[in-house]
Amino acid sequence: MQNEKKYWSYPEAEILKCFKVTEDGLTEEKAEKILNEKGENVLREGKKKSVLQVFLGQFCDLLVIILIAAAVISMFSGNVSSTVVILVVLVMNAVLGTIQHVKAEKSLESLKKLSSPNAKVIRDGVKKELPSQQIVPGDIIILEAGDMVVADCYILNNYSLQVNESSLTGESVNIEKSKCVLDENTALADRINMVYSGSLVTYGRAEVVVTATGMDTEIGRIADLMNLSKERKTPLQESLDKFSKKLAILIIIISIIVFALGLYRHMQLLDALMFAVALAVAAIPEALGSIVTIVQAFGTQKMAKENAIIKNLKAVESLGCVSVICSDKTGTLTQNKMTVQNLYADGKVFSPEELDTKNCVHRYLLYDAVLANDSEVVNGKGIGDPTEYALIEMCQKIKSDDGKICRDGRIDEDILREKMLRIEEIPFDSDRKLMSAKHSIDGIDTVFTKGAVDVLIDKCEYVSYSDEIRKMTADEKEIIREQNRIFSENGLRVLAFAYKEMTDKLSIEKENGFTFLGLISMVDPPREESIKAVQKAKEAGIKTVMITGDHKTTAVAIAEKIGIYSKGDIALTGAQLDEISDEQLAEKIEKISVYARVSPEHKIRIVDAWQKKGRIAAMTGDGVNDAPALKKADVGVAMGITGTEVAKDAAAMVLSDDNFATIIKAVANGRNVYRNIKNAILFLLSGNTAAILCVLYTSIMALPVPFAPVHLLFINLLTDSLPALAIGMEPADPGLLKNKPRDPSEGILTKDFLAKMFSQGALIAAVTMCAYYIGYSQNAAMASTMAFSVLTLARLFHGFNCRRKESIFKIGFLSNKYSIGAFIAGTFLLLVVLFVPVMSSVFSVSTLTTGNMVKILGLAFIPTAVIQIVKMIGEGRK
Ligand code: ATP
Repeated sequence: MQNEKKYWSYPEAEILKCFKVTEDGLTEEKAEKILNEKGENVLREGKKKSVLQVFLGQFCDLLVIILIAAAVISMFSGNVSSTVVILVVLVMNAVLGTIQHVKAEKSLESLKKLSSPNAKVIRDGVKKELPSQQIVPGDIIILEAGDMVVADCYILNNYSLQVNESSLTGESVNIEKSKCVLDENTALADRINMVYSGSLVTYGRAEVVVTATGMDTEIGRIADLMNLSKERKTPLQESLDKFSKKLAILIIIISIIVFALGLYRHMQLLDALMFAVALAVAAIPEALGSIVTIVQAFGTQKMAKENAIIKNLKAVESLGCVSVICSDKTGTLTQNKMTVQNLYADGKVFSPEELDTKNCVHRYLLYDAVLANDSEVVNGKGIGDPTEYALIEMCQKIKSDDGKICRDGRIDEDILREKMLRIEEIPFDSDRKLMSAKHSIDGIDTVFTKGAVDVLIDKCEYVSYSDEIRKMTADEKEIIREQNRIFSENGLRVLAFAYKEMTDKLSIEKENGFTFLGLISMVDPPREESIKAVQKAKEAGIKTVMITGDHKTTAVAIAEKIGIYSKGDIALTGAQLDEISDEQLAEKIEKISVYARVSPEHKIRIVDAWQKKGRIAAMTGDGVNDAPALKKADVGVAMGITGTEVAKDAAAMVLSDDNFATIIKAVANGRNVYRNIKNAILFLLSGNTAAILCVLYTSIMALPVPFAPVHLLFINLLTDSLPALAIGMEPADPGLLKNKPRDPSEGILTKDFLAKMFSQGALIAAVTMCAYYIGYSQNAAMASTMAFSVLTLARLFHGFNCRRKESIFKIGFLSNKYSIGAFIAGTFLLLVVLFVPVMSSVFSVSTLTTGNMVKILGLAFIPTAVIQIVKMIGEGRK
């Protein structure tokens, strides 16, 4: 690596020569050639487990080890075919586990691709957005606050760029960058004329040239050291892991007791061992872990199709418990389609068409709107901030015969911008709520500022009228505030505009002493889906809170329209929030539905206050400064379209349509995934309970063992997995959003769950034992055949009971086709075992008479009939 060039010690001209590129960027043709040569700009993931390692890893499970012991014991007891079957089943299980692991990894990777960043690049002199993978060395990139740096780059032009390089250096401070030439030996952290892949732009802007991509970048070199593909388990998976461990220990203890009981009864050693083994196999829910993984993967895929991209699997579970959603207004609850409505200047309110370029105040207001503005409208499509391109659209409508600033009788922003070149700028940020740009107007350096009315008005010393410039008095302020109030009460977003002549260097400290020009109000209608979604959230016991940088009156007007704010609710401004203590906030928080004029830092306090109340909070965000709040929230939600890469990086979920309604859909999906997992677990564990009870009963009653290990493995791994998966695929229903959110501290094994597990298990065990006795009247082999058949079939029927709480008649037999498929496939497998001679001998089953078959069918159906009747009685009572 050391022969590599130390670009930081090169002057700009040499760098450009090195990459044979001009300020117009590469040509598409050349870029394609380099892409073919250098490959895509992607990082190869760090050490990944090989497929063999994943396969062998499947055997490192305590439960699997118990099964291996069972196979060995079976062999010693002379039951070699049983040993073979157990081993075959274990290998099959490991193969399935490996396939699932690889599939789950692929699905996570495809999710990662969905949320991979774009870069703004100049090619053939045209600015365009490209996926980061297509960036090549020599590309000229434009970096702006909120972007992720996608390659290593050298700074060509710098406008106060600050980056966070914590992914590379671990230091989470913002580093100011600069355009300069450094010494060859400058250490990585001090190379202020370079930016590195993986860094986040927190402030300012810069034009840079790419010097390295993919594995040649600094982060690429350490990628092997970092385990990028680190697997993280979700809380549910972790608690199930813990549960499995406890279960395994319990199984070992009970098996030992059963074994000892057998010996005490003077049973043959091997027979006593067989009882213990049967019990162990009966109790182990082999399919549990994989079912949870599959259901979660299926859920995230479904969410991605519905525009919610899950970045952190933990979010799927948290979503089900969300009881507060703190949402941004602009673009999430509203359409972010701004249209200028009215203007106020020179003491009058007027429409955009009435703007008169001959009036000096109007003219400067127009300059301000176009020049303190970074957006463009190309072929009727806005590029940049919707607030800003609404201003450009407004200007394009204004008629004028002033050839200096218009084309074909209308104002042309390009002509204006070319004639009045920009000298300096301070970009907009939601803390300051201002943007300033210095331009040369007829040779005079003039700063144009636009921003929130209440902020800018206090920075104005004068007010401009067409006939004079007056001092900004308290009365003048009152007139402007009153006009702002009138606009805001109609839900309009209002911006104030001001200017001053200044030759000094522009800085935040010098954003004052302005002359007020006017106000421009714009509409941003609520999204229609928001109104319905807020209503749905309310029914689901979820409070929606609006958090906005906008003016309080505007925010309340919109919140009322959407249904977030109703009479008796409180609307707080950021300033009011600063004044109250944490205790006062905790007291009021349930009543506060609108936070206006807040800065991103306030969001952290709001989330924290809700979390202290034990509530699970989702928080949306798009800006750089939203990142800490997104990390703090239980579910951080970033905007996919308007959101910065910084926000997406911090979030657990990204909305690819920026729509509030998508969050509610994701909550429903989150609740559904959890419910389905819980029901699948109930299904598996109640089935296992039935088998355990049968083995325990026969052991206590000194009867022959009812099941061979192969029988139980057949049920646990094959016939039971099918309905369990079908339960996992149960579609979401509107009823899911009619209940209160789940208590996050409540585990799966609640009292109610355990009661159901035991009662349903006992019911299945009872009919299985009836079948056993019927068979036992003939011989022990028939007893085992009857018991095995009834247990298998009863558990297949039981799959329909566990789909949902409600009776099958209420939810519809056909509403989950997978469950019917699972039943048919499971029954088919059972018939194969019972009637295909090779299988019958491996499973040691006896030939059944028609009468016995009818009895099996009847007995196996009884538990389901009873459970459905109980459900229906419950529903009737309700
Ligand atoms: P939300 O937080 O719901 O997205 P918002 O878009 O109004 O609402 P910010 O983007 O933080 O929040 O804007 C805060 C205020 O800053 C706005 O109400 C407006 O007065 C002002 N503002 C917004 N965009 C600009 C801009 N591009 N230039 C100058 N001022 C702006």
